[in-house]
Amino acid sequence: MALDLEKIKEKLLEKREQILKSLANANNTDLNEKSGVEDAADTVTSEISRETLYRLSQSERETLALIDLALRKIENGTYGICEECGAVIGEKRLEAIPWVRLCIDCSQNEEIVKSFAMKSEEESIYNIIPPTLTEEEENKYMQE
Ligand SMILES: [Zn+2]
Repeated sequence: MALDLEKIKEKLLEKREQILKSLANANNTDLNEKSGVEDAADTVTSEISRETLYRLSQSERETLALIDLALRKIENGTYGICEECGAVIGEKRLEAIPWVRLCIDCSQNEEIVKSFAMKSEEESIYNIIPPTLTEEEENKYMQE
């Protein structure tokens, strides 16, 4: 198997940047701080501010979390391995969705795994409501 990890990494970072940029365009007022857009190419897991995260949709947050997870896997050498059964995920599948976590067989249970994943501590990092929110902010967040 000859996965081009550099290329995959590039794709992941590109998608990451794309999500953050679409957000920046919609909210071009406070882009000047560390949204992570500029650092994305240099820093694998550049920190995304909580404020930024609140403006993302749930699915964007999930995708970002999956992208960062995939990038971490590339770093520690576990990229491309199905989380469910440990099988090697097909190259074409990874090319189509570089942040995919499961092989084709296991993806049939993806919904179940996904709902489980959002509860797991490590991968829910982008879904945590920080304790510092005011009540007003919290209400606003909950409505979105
Ligand atoms: Zn599998």
